[in-house]
Amino acid sequence: MLKRLLSFLPKGSPSIKHQIIPRDKHTISRRNISNAALKVMSRLAEAGHEAYLVGGGVRDLLLGDHPKDFDVATDAKPEQIKSLFRNSRIIGRRFKIVHVRFGREIIEVTTFRDNHDQQADNSNHSARSDEGMLLRDNVYGDIRSDALRRDFTVNALYYTLDQFSVHDFTGGVQDIGKRKIRMIGKPETRYQEDPVRMLRAVRFAAKLDFQIDPATAKPIFQLGSLLQNIPPARLFEELLKLFMGGYAAAVFPKLVEYQLLQYLLPATQQALTEEQPLAEALINQALANTDARIASEQRVTPAFILAALLWAPLGKEEKKLQQQGLKPLQAHQQAAQNVISQQLQTTSIPKRFTQFMREIWLLQDRLARRQGSRAEKVFEHPRFRAAYDFLLMREQAGENLQGLGAWWSHYQEAGADERLQMASRLDKGKPKRRRTRKRPPTQTQQG
Ligand code: ATP
Ligand code: MG
Repeated sequence: MLKRLLSFLPKGSPSIKHQIIPRDKHTISRRNISNAALKVMSRLAEAGHEAYLVGGGVRDLLLGDHPKDFDVATDAKPEQIKSLFRNSRIIGRRFKIVHVRFGREIIEVTTFRDNHDQQADNSNHSARSDEGMLLRDNVYGDIRSDALRRDFTVNALYYTLDQFSVHDFTGGVQDIGKRKIRMIGKPETRYQEDPVRMLRAVRFAAKLDFQIDPATAKPIFQLGSLLQNIPPARLFEELLKLFMGGYAAAVFPKLVEYQLLQYLLPATQQALTEEQPLAEALINQALANTDARIASEQRVTPAFILAALLWAPLGKEEKKLQQQGLKPLQAHQQAAQNVISQQLQTTSIPKRFTQFMREIWLLQDRLARRQGSRAEKVFEHPRFRAAYDFLLMREQAGENLQGLGAWWSHYQEAGADERLQMASRLDKGKPKRRRTRKRPPTQTQQG
């Protein structure tokens, strides 16, 4: 399929202008485009507007993948778009885009923009005067300027129902053929405009299994620290895309390779640098588990993966606090607090997730202390399942927990009677030893 695409393009032409790839020279079929997106495009066209499928959707279709969402670009202005669709609303204060809803699916429709609005949707430039922003923000453009303001060539392809052709202004089709992530324009400048593009380069390389073009890759090593200026909320959004997209195991080593992990998860990077025992193994296990769950359409929560990413930093902090004289439980809770508040300086994490992380962490200890009625109490805890999964993961990563995971696996399958027996068998174990220790020596010898 790619060969067919490439054979159509002039070989090795460096300054590709406007390429139109006709219907019979590409493999995009309307059958793989959602009805909602098709409806939006055809209604815009009927009203006399240009309408294109754009961005990741076109890229993924050309690669034979199933896009997860569809974006449409048009020359119609937001109010015009809105008037065409009853089920639509304008969102975005700085730059208006229109969401058209079809049941659970949302098609994002944007008006062609010009390159001047680079910072318009990037909240990292909030220091600019509102006036200045507004002037810059309302610069609409044509399809060509719209293509040039996008990040990578493979993300700047346009598919239209008119002749069913693909429009390429930046050599994106060729780069898809070569499996290359290449920045449009001068990479340094484009990263300075929006440092998040460094994370995006890494993300697409991992997701698509593409190489980052050397000229696009090189500045990342110098400019990574610009990510420190990105507001924590935006970095959290990006963190979700990096780790919850189903390809986290491929993303993570690339973040390390391009020295970007330190700007996303500083404590995690520190743990890896110090080669803290099992830190890397646990992270890899968590990434692989998350990807596998997503592949089999099981539920995933960012709390779980964050709990794993920050597990080694937590252990280190806990140890430090214990050495300072805090009791184990106190040390644990204070460490969790410290590790989370440190991470919040880099990425925001919604409270429901930090709470979940704390619970997973705290339950690790409670899963080990199962005597008497304790086991049943932990078992009934609303976060039991996540904590148990986390425990299994620690074992898979090589931690020796003396069969704790297997014990809990058995416990869950056992009936109420057997569960009681399991817990009471423990009663005859550890706690007895503790009791004997407290007895005077003579009694111990007798008993
Ligand atoms: P995914 O499959 O992960 O959704 P995508 O390519 O659709 O990938 P989005 O983040 O959904 O990525 O963005 C849609 C499109 O908007 C991109 O394909 C790109 O053309 C453009 N875009 C998004 N973010 C930026 C940015 N920071 N700078 C320039 N262009 C961007
Ligand atoms: Mg997208």
